[in-house]
Amino acid sequence: MKNEEPVRVTVWNEFIHEKQNAQVREIYPDGIHAFLANMLNQRLPQAEIGTATLEQPQHGLSDEVLQQTDVLLWWGHAGHHLVSDQVVAEVQARVLEGMGLICLHSAHASKIFQRLLGTSCMLRWREAAEKERLWIVDPSHPIVEGIEGEFFELPQTEMYGEFFDIPTPDELLLISWFEGGEVFRSGCVFRRGKGRIFYFRPGHETFPIYHDENVQRVIAQGVEYVRPAGAAYFGNGRNITSSLEPIEADHNVDDSLHN
Ligand code: ZN
Repeated sequence: MKNEEPVRVTVWNEFIHEKQNAQVREIYPDGIHAFLANMLNQRLPQAEIGTATLEQPQHGLSDEVLQQTDVLLWWGHAGHHLVSDQVVAEVQARVLEGMGLICLHSAHASKIFQRLLGTSCMLRWREAAEKERLWIVDPSHPIVEGIEGEFFELPQTEMYGEFFDIPTPDELLLISWFEGGEVFRSGCVFRRGKGRIFYFRPGHETFPIYHDENVQRVIAQGVEYVRPAGAAYFGNGRNITSSLEPIEADHNVDDSLHN
């Protein structure tokens, strides 16, 4: 059933390359976060969209902001190591509670993605402005709804190739082929606790990837897909001393074994 409540989105960006590199600034003059927030405002008019950046106190991700975020988008590339471990732990906890997380492109190497997945999340890469063809391998998936044809293409991209060191995704919806010969799992969903994590590969900052119609559609539909849904989440250990039904055995517990 479709959730009609306005989805609350926070777009997080390390916001480094837009300030340092003229080519990136030309494509995203106010930062990738501002561009994505504006794009989502247009595509999801009901949504409440905010932004946060690395340089803000707690990287703009205070407890209050996180509690009021249904879906967090993550862009990082040069500054992964500058993200506080405390903030990463708090974002992880929110994902386990049900907050959706969308990790874009080079966020494969972010602390939060590596923490949630538990592997290196590293890959082959080459920046050669080559063509990428993204094949839809799950046409039933809501994230790719409305895309015409069996694939879509980006004329100039940075290549990411296998082996991509991730756990087997819970859902795989896009596989990329690159002009230079590599392939890559470029659209993956993982479930951790109650939360859903969508990894979407496109987005190298020196190419106008987020201006692309299909890429925008996938991100907007990704927001809808990973927003919290379903039953209550009980993620903590619980000692249930009373039983729902009678238990026949007469048993003395040594509580010291459980402490
Ligand atoms: Zn890149």
